[in-house]
Amino acid sequence: MVECDGRVAVVSDVPMQECPACGERWISLEVAERLDAILHQLISSGAETATGHWDSFTSSVA
Ligand SMILES: [Zn+2]
Repeated sequence: MVECDGRVAVVSDVPMQECPACGERWISLEVAERLDAILHQLISSGAETATGHWDSFTSSVA
């Protein structure tokens, strides 16, 4: 979730990496970069609150 200029963007079901040893979860650099682009795209769409599902942004891109 990102706030920018009074606007809020939320993307659900972002894929997480999980450590097989301790179960700690994190977002990979590749996912983080893509998430950043998606969030800014949502914010720049002009809506005060924009939400989207991760799959809906990534499934159309090979
Ligand atoms: Zn670990």
